[in-house]
Order: sequence, then structure tokens, then C-alpha cells
Amino acid sequence: MTLDHWGEIKERLLKTVGQNNYTTWIEPLVPGAVEDGIVTLKVPTNFFGNYVSQNFSDLILHEINVTGTDATRLNFALNQQPPAAEKPAPAARQTSAAVKPAANSQLSTAPLDPRFSFDNFVVGKPNELAHAAARRVAEGGPVTFNPLFLYGGVGLGKTHLMHAIARELHERKPEMNVLYLSAEQFMYRFVQALRDRKMMDFKEIFRSVDVLMVDDVQFIAGKDSTQEEFFHTFNALVDQHKQIIISADRAPGEIKDLEDRVKSRLQCGLIVDLHPTDYELRLGILQSKVDVQRKTYPDLEVADGVLEFLAHRITSNVRVLEGALTRLFAFASLVGREIDMGLTQDCLADVLRASERKISVEEIQRKVSDHYNIRLSDMIGPKRLRSYARPRQVAMYLCKQMTSRSLPEIGRRFGGRDHTTVMHGVRRIEELKVSDGQIAEDLELLRRALES
Ligand code: ADP
Ligand code: MG
Repeated sequence: MTLDHWGEIKERLLKTVGQNNYTTWIEPLVPGAVEDGIVTLKVPTNFFGNYVSQNFSDLILHEINVTGTDATRLNFALNQQPPAAEKPAPAARQTSAAVKPAANSQLSTAPLDPRFSFDNFVVGKPNELAHAAARRVAEGGPVTFNPLFLYGGVGLGKTHLMHAIARELHERKPEMNVLYLSAEQFMYRFVQALRDRKMMDFKEIFRSVDVLMVDDVQFIAGKDSTQEEFFHTFNALVDQHKQIIISADRAPGEIKDLEDRVKSRLQCGLIVDLHPTDYELRLGILQSKVDVQRKTYPDLEVADGVLEFLAHRITSNVRVLEGALTRLFAFASLVGREIDMGLTQDCLADVLRASERKISVEEIQRKVSDHYNIRLSDMIGPKRLRSYARPRQVAMYLCKQMTSRSLPEIGRRFGGRDHTTVMHGVRRIEELKVSDGQIAEDLELLRRALES
């Protein structure tokens, strides 16, 4: 049995909960089956379901009963939307999809990539927090953390998540003014406004959005007047409780040449990072991309073990992984062969070779001394000052972790030190990694920089 009078029930709810709550929480509900007094309501996300259940279920139940359906309980179920490819992608039809065109005709933003939806985003341990946070802001509910700051290495899905948020908001809250742009575009607009003496317009446009998303914000580091303007825009929007979403390739505190006040502003919301992919996530992504390729090449088979092999071997970033797969399918269809290990080796020889790249001791030493702002010669040399010794130990530790060199070999490259000194250094860092958050963060950053 399905629920009768949903329209009437909604009208009654509108009167009791008010327009805002209604638009946010009631309108998106989709009535489902009624069985044994249990009414199923479909919701877009679990968070949404929980919220409605906690805040409005008594009211909803009451109105359902008043309109003639005997109901004792509500059941919230996820609304399974059809796969993205079958939905007309609104973003693909417009050039300035992220912005409601009528409200802001002067604003054209970067077009949203229709492939970058939540449906196409594969979630695993390394990105689950970022994904959950993105989902939350995409609901367009009351602003709970501002800004949402997403950071992580290249190709890990920051832009994908931001586009997904913009799309989702656009579909769910078409009345909202959502502006997505890269930090570079922000600067470009700003410079143009200065040149054309249109700063008032510029300010007005940016201060009238409901949601502002700025991608790759590290780009404005060192660009003083752009930073200044960004800071004011940011503050104006935060004061109006408008959601801001920022991405960068590293944490706010790690961005060089960013003013302290900008840093601290960026740090006051929720900061989540996308960790480098792990094997399971890479495999999951490959499987989902195979499904996409199948639409183009329905006859091509992928032999057992190929995806596992790729997930093992291509660890750098998702973009490379994706490119490899696209190439495999195109190649296989051209030569009319099955996608097996042989074809994979032939077709991806260069990619596989590149990902075999070994990290050298010298590279590690260079990165570490840069990171701690000390001279390479001081790090390798005999000085025992803590400010050299600690980075030295960090570098030794990374050499042990990331290269196949033995302890004596590592010692030799650190100014001819004994292998016991190296061992001591490695142990010390292992301890500090647990007890000292700063060291743990340094190691993570360095490892990432070295792997990219
Ligand atoms: P970033 O902006 O962090 O450099 P992108 O968002 O541009 O990275 O992602 C690079 C490519 O990898 C895109 O094509 C994106 O769709 C894909 N990608 C990244 N992470 C995922 C994921 N978890 N699931 C599916 N595709 C992903
Ligand atoms: Mg990006």
C-alpha cells in the first residue's frame, strides 16, 4: 500500500514547521510503502533521515494519522537514485551550471564536470571523512562548520567532491546561489574588476552568494592584494552564515606565503584531508571505472588479475589510474584483443615504468632539509644541535621506510655514520611519531611530497 494524501500532509506540515524547515527537511521526503502501520519515507542521505527522525517524526506521524492513514511508526530509507549516467546531467546543459543564472547573470563560473558526482565517487578509508563532510554540506542545511576545508595531494578527488557538492546543491536547492570557482579564477576576476574600476560590482557579486567554493586556494599564496580581498569576502560571508568550502593541496598552516590572519580564518571550520589512496580504494575505483568503460565498449572483457595488478602498481594518483584504464580499453578495442596481462604490459609499459620510480636517499635528504629550512650540508654533517639532529633522524627514518637501503648504507650517506646511530634515529622517530603530533604531521607531509 502506498501513502495517500501526501500533498495534503505536506501542506499541513508547512503550517506547523515553517517555510524554512519545510523546504529543507520536508520537501525532499519521498513517500514510500505503508505496511503494518509502518510508513516508509525515502530520504537522500542517512544524516538527513536521522535529522528528520529526531526532529519531525512525531509531527509527521500525527499529520499522517489526521489525514486518514493508520500509522504507528516511520521508517526512513535511503532514496536510491538512478545511476548518474541515466539522469540528465543539469550541469552538462548549461555553461554556468554552478550559479542560478537569473539571479546573477554577470557571473559565469567554471562549468561543472558531469562525471564528478557523488554517485561516481568511490568511498574508502582514505577519503571517507572528506566524503562524509562533503555530503553534509551538500545537504544545504544550516551551516554547522565554516569553512569546510578539504585538502590532499594531487588527483585524490578534491575537485571531484567540490563539483559533486555544487551539483547536489543545485538539484536540491535550486534557489540557492552556489558559486564554484578556482582560486585562480577568483584572482582573475579580482584583477579584472580592479582594471575596469568595477570593484563595487565584484564585491556585491561575491557577497551575495549563498555558498562559495574556492578550489586550490594555495594558488593565492604570495598574491597579497588577492589574499586581502579573499579575506574580506570570506569574512563577509561567514558573518552572514553563508557556507564556504575551500580546497588546497595542503593544510592551511602549511601553505607558505599565506597571511596569518587568512590561515587562522581558514582553520576555524572543519579541516579534513584526503589521504593517499590505499590498495582497496584503488581497486574499488578501477572497478567502478570499468563499469563506465563498459558503456562504450560493451564487448570487451577484463581478464582476472588485471585490475588487481593495476591497483598494486599504479599508486601515484587516481587520475593516472583512470588514464591507464581508458587507454587499455581504447587499445584493446583497436587491436581487437581481450584485456589481459599481456596487453596491459604492452599498452602501459611507460606508465608502469614511471610508477616503478625508486625514491632515493638524496631525494629524501633534500626534501627533509627543505621542509625544516636547514642546509643539506648541516643535516648530513657532524653538528649535533637539536635543530639539525631531529631533521636528520626524520630523514633516516624515511630512508629506512621508503628505500630498500640497509642501515649501514644509510649511515654511509649521512656523513659516514655508524649503523647503530641510524637505528637509534629510526627508533627515536618511531617513538615520537606516537607522542608528538608535529612529528607525525611532518612525516605524513614529507611522505606525501616524496610519493607524488
Ligand atoms: P584533485 O582535485 O584532488 O587533484 P580530482 O578531483 O581532479 O583531484 O580527481 C582526479 C581524477 O580522479 C578525477 O577524474 C576524479 O573523478 C577521479 N577520482 C579521484 N578520487 C576518486 C574517487 N574516490 N572515486 C572516483 N573517482 C575519483
Ligand atoms: Mg583539483
